[in-house]
Amino acid sequence: MTETAQAPVITRIPHWIGGRRVEGGSGRTGPVFNPATGRQTGAVDFATVEEVDAAVQAARAAFPAWRETSLAKRAELFFRIRELLHARREEAAEILTREHGKVLSDALGEVTRGLEVVEHCCGIPTLLKGEHSEQASTGIDVYSIRQPLGVVAGITPFNFPAMVPMWMWAPAIACGNCFVLKPSEKDPSASLWTAELLAEAGLPDGVFNVVMGDRVAVDALLDHPEVAAVSFVGSTPIARAVYEKATSSGKRCQALGGAKNHMIVLPDADVDAAADAAVSAGYGSAGERCMAVSVVVAVGDVAQPLVDAIRDRIPKVKVGDGLDPSSEMGPLVTSEHRDRVASYVENAPGEGATVVVDGREGVPEEGFFLNPSLLDDVTPQMQAYVDEIFGPVLGVTRVATYEEAVGLVNDSPYGNGVAIFTRDGGAARQFQFDVQAGMVGINVPIPVPVAYYSFGGWKSSLFGDRHIYGPEAIDFYTRGKVVTSRWPDPATSRIDLGFPQTR
Ligand code: NAD
Repeated sequence: MTETAQAPVITRIPHWIGGRRVEGGSGRTGPVFNPATGRQTGAVDFATVEEVDAAVQAARAAFPAWRETSLAKRAELFFRIRELLHARREEAAEILTREHGKVLSDALGEVTRGLEVVEHCCGIPTLLKGEHSEQASTGIDVYSIRQPLGVVAGITPFNFPAMVPMWMWAPAIACGNCFVLKPSEKDPSASLWTAELLAEAGLPDGVFNVVMGDRVAVDALLDHPEVAAVSFVGSTPIARAVYEKATSSGKRCQALGGAKNHMIVLPDADVDAAADAAVSAGYGSAGERCMAVSVVVAVGDVAQPLVDAIRDRIPKVKVGDGLDPSSEMGPLVTSEHRDRVASYVENAPGEGATVVVDGREGVPEEGFFLNPSLLDDVTPQMQAYVDEIFGPVLGVTRVATYEEAVGLVNDSPYGNGVAIFTRDGGAARQFQFDVQAGMVGINVPIPVPVAYYSFGGWKSSLFGDRHIYGPEAIDFYTRGKVVTSRWPDPATSRIDLGFPQTR
């Protein structure tokens, strides 16, 4: 992707259907920007209903042979995919930085965490093992098997353009399904890159497809009778709508939504460690993480030293183009999103909060930058507390007691991640018992589970019963079957019209 000041090169970003690039015919495209320069670098095709159908049909056609492919061959292929992804992870990271804006080291972290899910899927023969009961009844054995669903779809957000798709396609394909991905239209190139890498690794045509686009493509997937299951990750209103639409037509659906993650700091916590964690988890990836810390809840007299310690660290965060290796925080994804995030700082004094650090000051003219902001005295009634800001704006809420702090978390409509900072093991253990959230960190600010556990929030952070990746993904992407079997000795055969009893 080269560009000059006079004539920027706009790269066309097409679909990937049946093992090849397919240019869209709708005439509708979306702009893709380099957020660090603010210039458009790409135009992504927006799929028609017919193009989505073509992707689903390609997946459907590939399914019979793919589900017959032995577990040994699938595992071997996943090892090859792992090796290729690992060898080319820096190339992937650069694609992410150019379209999302996150700094290279963070982008590399994203690819590495996604790779862990691919590595977990290399163990698919073990993960798909069923159970077997010999002699459940006299001469009768019972065993369970898990089988793929068929064509499954994934719809993903802009903030992890490589990792979140990996959370979906890796277990879905390993389980024997064929996959159609609809990535975010804001940073779609990583998905096309992934498709080409999977083909290079030897994945058969049609097993992995990508349709680019907007709501038209999403609705076409949700309406398609051949799509058996949908995984969605994105904001809560869209997650809810996707879940309702998918399940109303009988599809299996897991829809992960937004978040408002609290980090509770108890009076006995190490203030420096808590401040380091708040800055890392609040401003990393410019706050555009569903597991970002958004509210620091300071309990008792830790509040002032903690606010001072966070304030002192903020000027040292180096904001700049993510491609510059010295940058620690990049721009936001679009100018509209940057302006929306900045509005929370603008409105904070009117709501009664204190702006300790104003990130609107000193930002470069080019690109979609906003520096880290710190708000103090944020209360649960304020918009800056209620909304998922999804940007580098950290709020501090002061409370008197542990009970008040836990009450805040449990009253939140979201329940994605939460963290507590304390030196008291008993308090931490009580917290893990009390708190209503799916992922809990104890002196860990971003508790994203490792790949062999599953990721998911509670309340409005997840619609559906199954968390994503890990063991729950194996459940989600397969259907169970129980076989009761007898190999009778013809000599013992007789007619019996009674209900079968175990004997
Ligand atoms: P988004 O909801 O705007 O978009 C997500 C996907 O839905 C995209 O592919 C988009 O094209 C599609 N979409 C958008 N509007 C739609 C509509 N009206 N109908 C159908 N499809 C539509 O989310 P985003 O801005 O890309 O991502 C940020 C959000 O994702 C944040 O809320 C963040 O918390 C959330 N997120 C959650 C998790 C999690 O694990 N819970 C992880 C990452 C991001």
